[in-house]
Amino acid sequence: MFTIAVSKGRIYQEAVPLLARAGIVPSENHKDSRRLILPTSDPHVRLLIVRAADVPTYVEYGAADLGIVGKDALVEYGADGLYELLDLNIARCRMMTAGVAGENWEARRLRVATKYVNTAKRYFAERGIQAEVIKLYGSMELAPLVGLAQCIVDLVDTGNTLRANGLEPRDLILEVSSRLVVNKVAMKMKHKSIKALTAQLERAVSEASAC
Ligand code: AMP
Repeated sequence: MFTIAVSKGRIYQEAVPLLARAGIVPSENHKDSRRLILPTSDPHVRLLIVRAADVPTYVEYGAADLGIVGKDALVEYGADGLYELLDLNIARCRMMTAGVAGENWEARRLRVATKYVNTAKRYFAERGIQAEVIKLYGSMELAPLVGLAQCIVDLVDTGNTLRANGLEPRDLILEVSSRLVVNKVAMKMKHKSIKALTAQLERAVSEASAC
């Protein structure tokens, strides 16, 4: 039996077609359901639907054998207890700094709002920039507009959300896509079947990118 923890939202939506190509179809549409554990068409595979930031925890502690999670959440978690098996090439975006369009904040002592506190602290420290990092849980775009911070660190896809709020992207911190990760013990105990599943998903990824 395999348990795969999948980040809910955008990653789940993009992972479903990929899993289907690998013969794993959830028994019901997660959007229409409140169930957090979904059986699949493969009697040996079930899905856990969890918040992106929690996927590494479920996998590291062995509550899930495998996880599908963004590189952003992995870097933020510091996933030493996991192996990254495969770039699934879905939910691609960039983690960037952003600020009010046209406003120069580089010279000032910086206050940064983000949900990626560890990543942001590391990023600014590596550049010798003194930054006070404030944890927010959502709507980061608001922070520079009301003077909570001069800068945010967030995911950017089309840039529309930033633009709609009078902000502009500045520096690239990380290219993000979703990864297949595995618990280290599960990798030893279920090596053969995990290798087979990874190969199936690898094929699905190349088929999807050829389309
Ligand atoms: P956009 O307006 O297309 O640049 O999208 C930005 C908004 O979508 C921000 O609120 C991001 O946090 C969120 N977002 C963008 N890409 C992703 C992704 N791959 N996974 C999760 N959230 C994302």
